[in-house]
Amino acid sequence: MSAPASPHTSLLHFPHRPFGSRRPKLTRLRCLASLAPASSGASPANDNHLIQTLCAHGRLARAAALLQGLPAPTQRTYESLLLAAARAGDAALAAAVHRRLEADPVFRSDPFLSTRLIDAYAALSALPAARQVFDEAPEKNIFVWNAMLKALALADHGEEALARLADMGRLGVPVDSYSYAHGLKACIAGSASHAPASARVREMHAHAIRRGYGLHTHVATTLIDCYAKLGIVTYAERVFAWMPERNVVSWSAMIGCYAKNERPGDAIELFQEMIASDADLVPNSITIVSVLHACAVVNALGQGKVLHAYILRRGFDSLVSVLNALMAMYIKCGCLQIGRYIFDWIGRRRDVVSWNSLISGYGMHGFGRESLQVFEEMIKEGISPSIITFVSVLGACSHAGFVEEGKKLFESMVEYNVTPRAEHYACMVDLLGRAGRLDEAVELIQSMRIGPSPQVWGSLLGACRIHGHVEYAEMACSHLFDLEPRNAGNYILLADIYAQAKLQNQVDVLKELLEEHALEKVPGCSWIEVKKKLYSFGSVDDKNPQVEELQALIGEFVTQMKNEGYVPDTRTVLYDIEEEEKERILLGHSEKLAVAFGLINTSRGEPIRITKNLRLCEDCHSVTKFISKFTEREIIVRDVNRFHHFRDGVCSCRDYW
Ligand SMILES: [Zn+2]
Ligand SMILES: [Zn+2]
Repeated sequence: MSAPASPHTSLLHFPHRPFGSRRPKLTRLRCLASLAPASSGASPANDNHLIQTLCAHGRLARAAALLQGLPAPTQRTYESLLLAAARAGDAALAAAVHRRLEADPVFRSDPFLSTRLIDAYAALSALPAARQVFDEAPEKNIFVWNAMLKALALADHGEEALARLADMGRLGVPVDSYSYAHGLKACIAGSASHAPASARVREMHAHAIRRGYGLHTHVATTLIDCYAKLGIVTYAERVFAWMPERNVVSWSAMIGCYAKNERPGDAIELFQEMIASDADLVPNSITIVSVLHACAVVNALGQGKVLHAYILRRGFDSLVSVLNALMAMYIKCGCLQIGRYIFDWIGRRRDVVSWNSLISGYGMHGFGRESLQVFEEMIKEGISPSIITFVSVLGACSHAGFVEEGKKLFESMVEYNVTPRAEHYACMVDLLGRAGRLDEAVELIQSMRIGPSPQVWGSLLGACRIHGHVEYAEMACSHLFDLEPRNAGNYILLADIYAQAKLQNQVDVLKELLEEHALEKVPGCSWIEVKKKLYSFGSVDDKNPQVEELQALIGEFVTQMKNEGYVPDTRTVLYDIEEEEKERILLGHSEKLAVAFGLINTSRGEPIRITKNLRLCEDCHSVTKFISKFTEREIIVRDVNRFHHFRDGVCSCRDYW
């Protein structure tokens, strides 16, 4: 598109311009700037106005130069300059404004500008300068105190913020709702351990209640955020329930609390309640993104589609953060094509998050080649890959078994200034290990400069299970039992490897250890969405009223399969029990129940979409393959690692997962 002929045309065109285009603003600015000469020959009122306009358009060098010769800057001019300096990350400008202000007899002791200076320095991560402004402020009103508390909490100096809050009490400065909100954030800021942070938040909460601020919307919303971060969902729920007035931020905080604390179903339900409770309550982009993430976690495609329509109706589709979340939702709910469509539709506005989503999406769905292609396109477009990009693309290589490509990418990381972290090593160990190159995987671990994380040893252990390697499995576990003493999964995997190697004595030792330390396996759980409602199944589920019917149906399939030569894979059942009993336990696996539930409760031709919280077991994989052929149904299962598309008795993972 060529440059518009006049500023008027450019203004007329402005609303239709793609997001992020700055050209019309600059054209308009050039006209404005041409009205006033560069040397300040105009009146001070004009100069003040011009500085404010320049600030609004990011022309900070010109604005700073004008300030030097300006005899009487107004409060508004100082404010515009400080806000613009913070926005542009221009610490030198903030310092220049600070010096000018100190020499200004009119505004030197203006508390409003003191708060603005502290805010700007806080945003610029210049805490010592913010402290200096506060210490030297001649008039410290409540706003100046609050600005300092906010700056300290933002910089993770929680202890100091709390000390200043105590000073306020000692000096008789009355606190307000903002002081409590900043104080609460300070309780969590910089606190390395969970226990003291939690005790402090509760203490501050009690204090706020005593002073009559406990139910204040702003304070209560901050409380919900704090309890969400601490993982104390029941307290957050209680605060939310007692609030006499809730705004969109309070609703979003509670929805976010559920989403962050692995209660995606509740997040989705509360969002529906929010929409239904008040037509004027318009969710913000943060709410929408939280709910989309929740839909993605539980594979709630129907709900996600409802949200998609809502996004379009309310115009949220202009925000890249929302579109990224929408795209990730579709990809994680198994609709890779729609995800790709949204990616293409975001077009030039896409950022590294959009690229990462697509790269990992192709990887999770088993399209390694496409994933590598998208990575190359990203590099060609000049986008710098991030830490997550490499986790995504290495993960894709691992799922597809592309060992050489993965090794090359891993070696190329330094060229992009990304230092390999434990998660990248874990991907590489997984890639090499799955491909049966266990010696190489161990060599790589031994070459690590950083201490191998549980993830790295876990990848090795997983590979040992696939290839039945007892020695390396013991080596991985000698580290894992130290690093994650409460993770029952490691004990179970090792027991499984021993069982495969027919080392029953070792299996018994591990079972005793599990019982002795009262360690429990993470219970297997699967979800399925039918007619926009989510149903979850635990293993050997007795809560679902249809469970007997479901088990009978699976039993029929299994009988049919046995006639065709199938032998149940009972290796995952650790108990020392009869083979027949082991088979009965396998029948109760949550993903089989979910598949049967889907078959009974959805219409023919409709794909069945299931999410599993753990890795899909070998037996469930074989049974699902058979069911997909026998019932002519497409079954899509997302386990903790990847997608399995079952169709006509074949899985997209080609039995490599
Ligand atoms: Zn299973
Ligand atoms: Zn599969």
